Amino acid sequence: MTERELFYRYLGLPARQPLGLEFDKAEGVWLYGRNGKKYLDLVSGVSVSNIGHRHPAVISAIEEQLGKYLYLTVYGEYIQSPQVRLAKMLADLLPPGLDSVYFVNSGSEAIEGAVKLAKRVTGRTEVISFHGGYHGSTQGALSILGNEVLKNAFRPLIPGNRLIRFNRPDELDRITEKTACVVAETIQAEAGIILPDAGYLSSLRNRCSETGALLVIDDVQMGFGRTGKLFSFGHWDVVPDILVLAKALGGGMPLGAFISSADRMNALSHDPELGHITTFGGHPVSCAAALASLKVLTETILLESVGIKGDMFYHRLKDHPEIREIRYKGLMMGIELKRPELRQPLTEKLLEEGIVTDWYLFRPDTFRIAPPLVISREEIEQACEAIIRAFSGCP
Ligand code: PMP
Repeated sequence: MTERELFYRYLGLPARQPLGLEFDKAEGVWLYGRNGKKYLDLVSGVSVSNIGHRHPAVISAIEEQLGKYLYLTVYGEYIQSPQVRLAKMLADLLPPGLDSVYFVNSGSEAIEGAVKLAKRVTGRTEVISFHGGYHGSTQGALSILGNEVLKNAFRPLIPGNRLIRFNRPDELDRITEKTACVVAETIQAEAGIILPDAGYLSSLRNRCSETGALLVIDDVQMGFGRTGKLFSFGHWDVVPDILVLAKALGGGMPLGAFISSADRMNALSHDPELGHITTFGGHPVSCAAALASLKVLTETILLESVGIKGDMFYHRLKDHPEIREIRYKGLMMGIELKRPELRQPLTEKLLEEGIVTDWYLFRPDTFRIAPPLVISREEIEQACEAIIRAFSGCP
């Protein structure tokens, strides 16, 4: 059997028609196909490879850690150098009050931890989240997901959750003294890049502060320079009570984190003790990779250039007759098609052009452009030309 046949035969697959592309290598902004073809990556593994694939600093940090230890024990018992150095660096980069880091393995798990922490700290049970929000696939994360299609087959989910509409200040009064936390993305990604209206996130922040509900910001997809700031909430001057990170955090390795104040986080160490534990959370190799990746992001990548690069895509494509709208912040971009039925042919044409793109979970009329932040201006020009050619090759 070929590996393609083995893939379809032996892997549990979440989609009926996976892209099924085969790559032998990935480096920088390029994916090298088994077919001998080179592809420009405009997806970054869904906002993971922000500093590019196989960044040399990340590879050497991993190699160095491999020479020391691979695994010692469950999270939070031994003092592991990569974990403590990464936690300190994150705390230094974040505003005051976000200085205690709990490491897990993924975005979903970080959401689970954040919501448990909010319940434990407030003694409340209600969790509010948003229609169109995506926070992961585990049962807790699914319970706060803002899309009924993905939830219905798995009910009953966790009770006590309420959904409100994003960008609707009139619905913020649903947040009350009963609310443990509100879980929000700053920009709704899977809804097709829905940016917050002016003042909306501040109103949300204020309503949470008024009621004592904790504001949890899920920066899993928007974090680590993707929008042109290291953490996306920096654009709107709101500071969450709990911050959720994953994806690009690990520099290509699996890692998630929820971050809050030491005061709040301490609640997890008693009543009950060991109420949130993880075997592989904060894996030393992942943390070593994350530390190297964060250094690359903060020391060598000009985050201002991310905004300029996003503008380049926008100006080059905005007047195309097949495009209804481009919604974006930095290099997190949703291109809405006038004809949603172009989705499939466009993806295929782009692959022929050597360009990998993707779609948004809840918006099949909107395609995703989110390249590694290190994409060059020439590569952006090349990508835009290929996109325009692909449109003209579509029926
Ligand atoms: N939150 C957001 C905003 C996400 O985009 C994702 C993943 N797409 C998650 C949480 C869940 O992350 P993971 O797949 O690592 O569990």
